[in-house]
Amino acid sequence: MNKIELYKTIEDFSDKVGKPSSFLPYVTPIEDYVYKSNWQIIPYDDFELIKVSQDGFTVLKDGKYHIFIRKYGKKSLRQRFTLAHEVGHIVLNHHHVYKQNNKILIEQEANIFAENILMPVDFVERFKYEDLETIARIFQVSKQMASVRLTHIQRDKCYFNNLNNWRQIL
Ligand SMILES: [Zn+2]
Repeated sequence: MNKIELYKTIEDFSDKVGKPSSFLPYVTPIEDYVYKSNWQIIPYDDFELIKVSQDGFTVLKDGKYHIFIRKYGKKSLRQRFTLAHEVGHIVLNHHHVYKQNNKILIEQEANIFAENILMPVDFVERFKYEDLETIARIFQVSKQMASVRLTHIQRDKCYFNNLNNWRQIL
């Protein structure tokens, strides 16, 4: 998928799933979307499955997506990122094009998807002067995710602006 297509798909999905709640914390209702789509979320902490995947994976069976999400000890913020990442694979059609594509590229696309869905550029920018801990709390993500996400804000902003410019020309 080229980058313009990728960001266009993210933007369309973002309109469908809804923006984060208008009060703090800003939580994008991605779980609601999963339930509405009749996809199944299956938490796991089984050793054999952890060997298959550390964080999560998705299986398409009988036309239905089963999203396996690893359970961590306490209520973990990391699970939200994993869910958004797995939804990214579904929405970006990776389950159908996987074989022709390289794994690193596909993982990168799912990460770009998850970062933009959980922490949209325009929402993050309102808090650019806050410290990492505050930002992580506002978006209910791990500090690690918040920190990676902040390094990608300029890149994503640039792609979204390009999309809008294309729209004006077309
Ligand atoms: Zn993945």
